[in-house]
Amino acid sequence: MSLTNQVGIYMKNFNELGINSDILKGLASLNFETPTPVQEKVIPLMLEKPVDLVSLAQTGTGKTAAFGIPLIQQSNPDKKHTQCLVLCPTRELCVQVARDLESFARFISKLKILAVYGGARIDQQVNSLRKGAQIIVATPGRLKDLISRKAVDQSKVNYVVFDEADEMLQMGFQDELTAILANTPKKKNTLLFSATMPKEVALISRKYMSNPVELTIGTKNAGAENVRHEFYLVHQRNRYAALKRIVDNSPDNYSIIFCRTRRETNDVAHKLIQDGYNADALHGDLSQAQRDQVMGKFRCKNIQILVATDVAARGLDVNDLSHVINYNLPDEPAAYTHRSGRTGRAGRKGTSIVIVTSKEQYKLRLIEKKIQKQFIQCKVPTGMEICRKQLVSQIDRVNNVTVNNEQIAPLFEEIEDKLGHLNREELIKQFISLEFNRFLEYYKNAPDLNATSQPQSTGRRNDQPRRDSRPELHPKNTFTTFSINVGRRQGIMPQGLIGKINEIQDMGRIKIGRIEILRNSATLEVDSRYTAQILGVFQRSEINGKTVNIEVAKSKGAKKTYKGKRKGNFHHKGRKPQVA
Ligand code: AMP
Repeated sequence: MSLTNQVGIYMKNFNELGINSDILKGLASLNFETPTPVQEKVIPLMLEKPVDLVSLAQTGTGKTAAFGIPLIQQSNPDKKHTQCLVLCPTRELCVQVARDLESFARFISKLKILAVYGGARIDQQVNSLRKGAQIIVATPGRLKDLISRKAVDQSKVNYVVFDEADEMLQMGFQDELTAILANTPKKKNTLLFSATMPKEVALISRKYMSNPVELTIGTKNAGAENVRHEFYLVHQRNRYAALKRIVDNSPDNYSIIFCRTRRETNDVAHKLIQDGYNADALHGDLSQAQRDQVMGKFRCKNIQILVATDVAARGLDVNDLSHVINYNLPDEPAAYTHRSGRTGRAGRKGTSIVIVTSKEQYKLRLIEKKIQKQFIQCKVPTGMEICRKQLVSQIDRVNNVTVNNEQIAPLFEEIEDKLGHLNREELIKQFISLEFNRFLEYYKNAPDLNATSQPQSTGRRNDQPRRDSRPELHPKNTFTTFSINVGRRQGIMPQGLIGKINEIQDMGRIKIGRIEILRNSATLEVDSRYTAQILGVFQRSEINGKTVNIEVAKSKGAKKTYKGKRKGNFHHKGRKPQVA
C-alpha cells in the first residue's frame, strides 16, 4: 500500500535514505513504497552516525520501521550476541514489533529477532535465547527476569529502544526500565518513542540519554492529526441508547468502544449482542487464548464492534478503524490520546467520539488542553435521521453489488414465478423493507436523547453549595473507589491492601481513603490520579493464594475529595506489576 496517495506529503523514496538492498527488498515485498514522515527523518539520522533520539510519534505513524530498519541494518548477523534491545509495554505490541522487524529483515537469513514477554513459558524463552538473537523485543518485566536468570547478555548491546515509553511508565515499569538500563554498556545509543511526553518520560530522557535529538512528528502531546474529536451530551440514563444511535448512524462502522471497567465492558458488549449487533468484549478476565481469539476475529472483521478496556486493547494492531467510541472517559487525559490514536492511522481519517454527561464535561476541557484540539459537539441523531442514513446505505449496497448473471440465469424462471406479481415500486419497497423494517420499528416514536450543558435542578437554592459538584471543580483531588474480589474469608486486612499499594513507586504520596473489607470482597478509596497504577499493581496479583481481580467500582454519586486522609507508608516487599 502506498501512503503517498492518501496524504500526498511524503517526498522521498526508501532508496534515497541509505537503506541496504536486502532491507529494500523486504520493504518492497511489503509494498512499502514511500517513507512516512517519521521514517524519512529517523532512518537517515540513525544510519549517518550514532545518536540518542527522543521521538514524539503516535502509533500508526510508521515508527516501528523508523527505528527497526536502522537497527536491522546496523546489526551484524555473523555475530550471535545480542546487539539491540527493544522494550514494549505489552505482549501484543512485542509480538507485533518482532513480526514487523522480521518482515523487514526477511532477506537477511542469519539475523535472528526474538520476542520475549510475560505470560508465556520462561524456560522455552530461555532455550530460544541460548540459540542467540541479535535483536530482542521484550516486555520490561520478563526481560528483567531473563536478565536475572542470566539468559540475556547485555554486555555488547549497541541499541536500547523504548517503544511507547509513556505506556510503559504508566503501567508501572519504571524500576524494570532503570534496572535494564543500568546493566547495559555506557557506550550505546538509546532511542525513545512515545505518543505523549509526561514528565516521567522527559525525566528518563534527561537521565539516561546524552544530548538526544528531539523529533516531534505532529504536535507535542497532540492527538493524531487525522482524527476528528466529537462529543455527545446525554443524561446518564441514556448513555447506552445514545451509543446505539451513534453506531446505527454510521452503517459501515468498524470501531472500538472503550469502557472503564471489565464489568461495564461485559455489560455493554452483552447488551449490544442481545440487540443484534456484531460485537464482542475484550478485557482482562478473558484468558490469553480467548483474547487472541477475539482480537483475531476483530482484525479480520468477523466482529464489527469491539468493546474493550484500555489495558486489554493495548497492542491491538488494527489500522482501519472508522471510530473510537469513549462510552465513558478515562481518568487520565493521556489515556484518551492513546484511545483516539487507534483511529486515523496509516494516513486514514478517523473519528473519536465521547459520550458525556454534563457532570463530566470538565474532562473534555482537560483533554482539549492535552491534545491541543477542540471537541465538536454533535447532536444524538433522531430516529428519523438514522432511518434515512440506513436507507441510503442499503440503496448504495444494492447499487454497488456485482450481479453474477451466469449463476442467476438458471434460477431466473423460479424467481419470476415468485416475484412476477409485484410491480417495480412494490418490488423496491419489499426489498428495502427486509432490512429497514427493524430500524423503522425500533425508532418509531424515539425520544430526543440530547441533554443540555446545565446540570439538572436539584431543588437547592443557587447559593447553596452542591456537595457532589465540588470534585468537578478540583478533578485532581478526588478518590476513586476500587473493588476487589478478596475479603475477610481470604484473610485480607487493611494493612495488606496498603502494603500492596506500597509496591507502587513514590507510594508515600498516594492518598488512601476508606477501606471496607467484606466477606468475599473489599473496596478501597485511592487518589484518582493513581488509578492506572492501582489497577496495575493489584490486577492478577495473588493475595493469600487467590488471584485478584480489581475494578473501578460504579460510582454512587460523586467522587469524594480527600482532605487529611492517611497516606500509605507501609513498607512491603512484593511482586511488581506483571506484563499484560
Ligand atoms: P506503526 O506506527 O509502526 O505501528 O505502523 C502503522 C502501520 O503502517 C503498520 O501497519 C505498518 O505496516 C504501516 N506502514 C508503516 N510504514 C509504512 C510505509 N512506509 N508504507 C506503507 N505502510 C506503512
